[in-house]
Amino acid sequence: MTCSRVDRTLDLLRTMLNSPENTLNEWFDSELVKAPLARLASELGGPPSEKTLAIGSMMMGLRHNPGMARPRGGTGALVDALVQMVKSHGGTILCDQQVERLLISADGRAEGVRVAGGQEYRARRGVISNIDAQRLFNDLMPAADAQAQAPGLQERLERRIVNNNEGILKIDCALAEMPRFEAYNHRDQYLIGSVLIADSMDQVQTAHTLPMQGVIPDHDPSLYVVVPTVLDPSMAPPGQHTLWIEFFAPYQIKGAEGTGPLGTGWTEEVKDKVADRVLDKLADYAPNLKQSVIARRVESPAELTQRLGVRKGNHYHIDMTLDQMVFLRPLPELANYQTPIDGLFLTGAGTHPGGSISGMPGRNCARVFLSHQAPLRYNLQEAGNWIKDRLQSVTGLGR
Ligand SMILES: Cc1cc2nc3c(=O)[nH]c(=O)nc-3n(C[C@H](O)[C@H](O)[C@H](O)COP(=O)(O)OP(=O)(O)OC[C@H]3O[C@@H](n4cnc5c(N)ncnc54)[C@H](O)[C@@H]3O)c2cc1C
Repeated sequence: MTCSRVDRTLDLLRTMLNSPENTLNEWFDSELVKAPLARLASELGGPPSEKTLAIGSMMMGLRHNPGMARPRGGTGALVDALVQMVKSHGGTILCDQQVERLLISADGRAEGVRVAGGQEYRARRGVISNIDAQRLFNDLMPAADAQAQAPGLQERLERRIVNNNEGILKIDCALAEMPRFEAYNHRDQYLIGSVLIADSMDQVQTAHTLPMQGVIPDHDPSLYVVVPTVLDPSMAPPGQHTLWIEFFAPYQIKGAEGTGPLGTGWTEEVKDKVADRVLDKLADYAPNLKQSVIARRVESPAELTQRLGVRKGNHYHIDMTLDQMVFLRPLPELANYQTPIDGLFLTGAGTHPGGSISGMPGRNCARVFLSHQAPLRYNLQEAGNWIKDRLQSVTGLGR
């Protein structure tokens, strides 16, 4: 039967509202295919049964087209490149400066920030925040200022934004040799991409439901594993490798409230025990793993929270469910990188299109910021670029 365009559009909408589990069951029969795809979908931070996360089940397709890239030398090399770019344009970057207060002028304009120690920095053109709206408005602004500039916003942010308690325990290892998946027809090039350890849809479901209930799913870990040195050997001494493992775990461990960092229950002892179990699981697949570990570093969801300042260990700043995506991220009134406060702009993982190292929140916000500085000049320039692009695509010239 052929479908009309309207039907196809509605069908896409229906799919987007659905869960990865339902979508995968619609398209595939084999558990061998469905389980890892479900695990990849859960990268969005929820179990495969969660409605509105179906886009996650299409992630493998998106990885092939348009594809993925990694910076040579690791993610730090991307940061280095951006730092150099800023400096080459005369910019200055100050690190280790904890912003404690957003400064608002008497006429309600964002005019700078105050950092720990009391130093104040004034902005000539505006302030752009890379932390999420909850932290910006609720932690860096006194309630009276926020209420005066954006009535009701603090409460809406506090009550409407959702973080589901799912965090990440990350293990980094230095390896004397590459993990070998002998029982799975090991070939070195199979390790160029990511390895998904997912035995069944049920296992993935449990692995991403328990953290939301405060329980560590380490009785049968499901993992996301990358060996970056297979693609880029420059990151380790010759013949040696680096490995990182991502294991979803609760931010707040149920029953352990008040212990460990931030009172989350993540003591050193708990962290190391969980890491041991995660490595045991990977060694079931790659038996040479344990003997090849030269050193390891484990970061618990609590430590990640301390390092980044995120709420509830959420490295995406706020959950990536459809109700908090696109023109709803983080809230409808803040979804276009602007805020109710003149001169204050919002970017980062808590804005569209969300977490990951895409650069898109920054790029989109920069465009909005620039168009505010000189609307006419910016819009003319954008229109010129658009016409040039169209002409090039029609004539094929200048490509
Ligand atoms: C283990 C792990 C693996 C991942 N793997 C991938 C992957 O393979 N591919 C991918 O695309 N994404 C991946 N991600 C997700 C990605 O790293 C994040 O979504 C992304 O880094 C978010 O970037 P951001 O700049 O918006 O926010 P952040 O990285 O959270 O940066 C915000 C910065 O602001 C600083 N800050 C906070 N508060 C203040 C303050 N008051 N004053 C001054 N500074 C402050 C923080 O210290 C931090 O440096 C992974 C995340 C984790 C944890």
